[in-house]
Amino acid sequence: MEPRVFTALAFVIGSLVGSFLNVVIHRLPRGESVVSPGSRCPACGKAIRPWHNVPVLGWLWLRGRCRDCGLPISARYPLVEVATAVLFALIAQRFGPSPLAWMWMGFAAALFAAAAIDADHRIIPDEISLGGLALGLTLAPALQVWSGADARAAWLHAGSGGLLGGGLLWIVGFAHARLCAVMGRRFEHWPGDDDAFPRPGSLDYWTWFPGMGFGDVKLLAMIGAFLGPLGVVQTIVAASAIGLVFGIAWIVARRGAATPFGFGPMLAMGAVVTLLYPMF
Ligand SMILES: [Zn+2]
Repeated sequence: MEPRVFTALAFVIGSLVGSFLNVVIHRLPRGESVVSPGSRCPACGKAIRPWHNVPVLGWLWLRGRCRDCGLPISARYPLVEVATAVLFALIAQRFGPSPLAWMWMGFAAALFAAAAIDADHRIIPDEISLGGLALGLTLAPALQVWSGADARAAWLHAGSGGLLGGGLLWIVGFAHARLCAVMGRRFEHWPGDDDAFPRPGSLDYWTWFPGMGFGDVKLLAMIGAFLGPLGVVQTIVAASAIGLVFGIAWIVARRGAATPFGFGPMLAMGAVVTLLYPMF
């Protein structure tokens, strides 16, 4: 396929995937099915007609209002669709027409959903992080080998990347939790004033980290399986830089120091930057 045609195709498919991501972002953290029922108005619950469900164009046609109840439909929906379309086109351009390009588009779509859900709810669903980790350890290296990569190198790349990604953040979180326990520091959420810090016999001792969700650990493990150990390093550097810029922008705009963003969206953006502009 002609590279320019492939990029255009990726853009169109990206807008459709973005439309699906809107459903995933809304429903997955609420425990609802992402398959059925079809798209509904968030305000009145009436089904959206198929011809109004065309990415971006449907929203523009309705001038951002529900056909049934007239209430505004958030501009976030078309924005997610446009952003996914641009992301897919950039990946198509970088990797050219190939099965691997589609894999990276799926990877980027999963990261996008994880970032948006984390920004909304401060959780990263296991369906994305652990599901993605499983795919990153199996499907991704298999596809690399099928595309001509050395088999041993591909599996080592995925395994060591997943281990380093999960391991690095786990060590940071675990050390921080133990330090907090020693210093007797309490948090608004569990453990509260009367709760004891978790003991080594409980699962929480190993997986509960104050100020940092275990979701971040699982997300970086997934990223590492796809991008490898050096990709993990660049992702962390990029995520920290993006987090710093976001943090400063937030302080300037809101004049408050506490940003509502977790580390998850920064990690997701850092991974996309690493995928598109690898330093190693
Ligand atoms: Zn409505």
